[in-house]
Amino acid sequence: MSGMGRDVLVIAEHLQGKLADISFEMAAKARELAAASGGRTLAVVLGHGARALAEQLNVDAVYYVDHPVLAQFAPDPYNRVLADLVREKQPGVVLVGNTSMGMDVAPALAAALGWPLLAYCRDVRWEGDAVVGTSQLYGGKVMAEAAASGAGAVVTVLAGSAPADAGRGAPGSVEDVAAAGLDGVRTRFKALIEPEAADVDITKEAVLVSIGRGIQSQDNLEMAAELADALGGALSASRPIIDNGWLPKSRQVGKSGQTVKPKLYLAAGISGAPEHLEGMRDAELIVAINTDPKAPIFGVAHYGVVGDLFDILPVLTEKVREAAG
Ligand code: FAD
Repeated sequence: MSGMGRDVLVIAEHLQGKLADISFEMAAKARELAAASGGRTLAVVLGHGARALAEQLNVDAVYYVDHPVLAQFAPDPYNRVLADLVREKQPGVVLVGNTSMGMDVAPALAAALGWPLLAYCRDVRWEGDAVVGTSQLYGGKVMAEAAASGAGAVVTVLAGSAPADAGRGAPGSVEDVAAAGLDGVRTRFKALIEPEAADVDITKEAVLVSIGRGIQSQDNLEMAAELADALGGALSASRPIIDNGWLPKSRQVGKSGQTVKPKLYLAAGISGAPEHLEGMRDAELIVAINTDPKAPIFGVAHYGVVGDLFDILPVLTEKVREAAG
């Protein structure tokens, strides 16, 4: 392999004293890539008093950079440290999580190095001297391949692209690297603001009765809540219901909400926009109720009822209650 370095470097991500799962997944992915290139697997942990985190990644070598400014993630200090470190260690591929943090880090790092950025990658592999990323676009509707060659590439990796367990374990070595260039950083971590505690965790419910704009008003939610109750499940919804303030954000299914995989997902009055389908298409059993026979939700539903939810939901609730005795 000429041109591109053979080593693969993972930028670890952590919050409140815990490495994010994506860090282990990337370590696993790095092992695959390095096995193919004959290179080494490397990782970098930036933190303060967080050396223990560096001991958990199953790679050949972890670089640990300690500085009070690095205690929590902030873009400017991370970028200053990482660009220098990558120049010095010369990996061919840098893996960054396709996360809120990664989206801050990866483009700036690629720009600082003058390297291409392959983003939203489900997969990444070598093809000869080039590194090829398979990017998931338009909420998973399109997969695109892009190849990068040259000195190196920055790749952002989507969660779930490799098994986290293969990336857990003690590294071959942990090397302390002095933090340099952190004078006068322009962004600093001030405080961590946790989201409000969710009322129910819809990602853990076996049965979801999910409602969309077809429900028409907040007063009608009760009808769906009764069915959810009869089925021993919970109420979830499409985005307009949350935007209207009828249910809390924690109940939203889809691209900008939660991804759910219940045993039963009953969608009533939901059209099935791509952004909604992204959050529920892997449910075990999908039942859809919609007045429009052309509604896209029927494209993913296992059972579909073309009909009025105001007629069907109360009857269904009654039947479920009867069956339950
Ligand atoms: P509509 O599309 O208006 O559909 C209402 C449906 O109800 C229609 O199919 C209609 O036939 C049916 N209906 C009407 N009356 C009845 C009745 N009496 N009985 C039965 N059926 C009836 N959306 C999400 O859901 N989750 C997300 O996370 C999300 N994220 C987004 C992120 C981005 C960046 C963008 C651009 C959009 C996002 N959206 C998301 C919005 C998405 O594009 C759709 O606008 C939204 O999913 C539509 O919601 P809906 O199906 O409830 O409403």
